[in-house]
Amino acid sequence: MLESNHYDLIVIGGGPAGMAVSVGASSAGLKKILLLERHPRLGGILNQCIHLGFGLKYFKEELTGTEYAARYKKIILEQNVEVKTSSFVHTIHPRHKVTFVCPQGERVVSAENIVIATGCRERTREMLTVPGTRPAGVFTAGLAQEMVNIYGVLPGKEVVIIGSGDIGLIMARRMTLEGARVRAVFEILPHLSGLIRNKIQCLDDFGIPLYLEHEVLEIMGKNRVEAVRVRDNRTGGERELSCDTVLFSVGLIPERDLLIDAGIEPGNGLYLAGNADYVHDTVDRVTKEGEKLGRALAG
Ligand SMILES: Cc1cc2nc3c(=O)[nH]c(=O)nc-3n(C[C@H](O)[C@H](O)[C@H](O)COP(=O)(O)OP(=O)(O)OC[C@H]3O[C@@H](n4cnc5c(N)ncnc54)[C@H](O)[C@@H]3O)c2cc1C
Repeated sequence: MLESNHYDLIVIGGGPAGMAVSVGASSAGLKKILLLERHPRLGGILNQCIHLGFGLKYFKEELTGTEYAARYKKIILEQNVEVKTSSFVHTIHPRHKVTFVCPQGERVVSAENIVIATGCRERTREMLTVPGTRPAGVFTAGLAQEMVNIYGVLPGKEVVIIGSGDIGLIMARRMTLEGARVRAVFEILPHLSGLIRNKIQCLDDFGIPLYLEHEVLEIMGKNRVEAVRVRDNRTGGERELSCDTVLFSVGLIPERDLLIDAGIEPGNGLYLAGNADYVHDTVDRVTKEGEKLGRALAG
């Protein structure tokens, strides 16, 4: 292996966690740091979050996710960190080697320490096993957010949201502002999953009903979603509600496939950060913990 392919630290994932680990390590004196991000730009999930609510603790100001990402990118660019975007890590090998693909081809690099900051992924319809046909018009809420906020595409016009997680609540408001009609949010639990502030600002302010203890039994439709069949678990009563789109907002799972595929556990120079470690509510916490880990790795 070429000397130049060996780093003090490789960070996989250029969201807030990966950026913070890199900044923490570099500001504490670590010299050779490589940050790999699969997308063309840094920022991770923040790039699709155009709502306010980010950065009150870290920047002492309420920012949108995109503003937070832009501010933090300036900080990382002042540091001695080699940033490679459009670089997708597909394998971690034993002895701290990593293979990634980038526009120049496939590359193998190694490091004393590796931090996995690959974020989290959304639970899907398949994970919940909601019965029914398989029509078009079923999305996770985060995918719908990406479609609307990044690609300018509205996934549908008559929307039902399954699950009361924060991304679903935020998307209820976003879809409404874009002209869709959000017919209902159905939550199987007796309580809200997301933040109460999101229920007030995203549902109540727009007259969108939230039904607790309601279970979606079936998604109906041939080519496109036509309706959902729902049961009120308190009374046992069932009804159908017409819609052309169903969004799932039923939880997030740390993204650790790189470790699972390699059959490797964290430890011995392999670390997890941000949502890859556990799902965080606020980006301020992700940044604080990431910088701390980075400093520790430099020391
Ligand atoms: C919809 C939504 C709303 C939120 N609202 C708020 C809020 O109002 N206020 C707040 O403070 N926090 C909020 N959060 C929480 C906060 O933004 C996240 O917890 C934080 O952004 C997580 O950072 P991360 O770096 O761990 O993950 P991510 O931001 O997901 O970054 C992971 C990065 O890793 C990259 N990656 C993954 N796999 C690979 C690979 N194999 N190779 C290379 N790169 C890879 C991804 O492309 C991505 O850029 C919200 C989160 C979401 C999803």
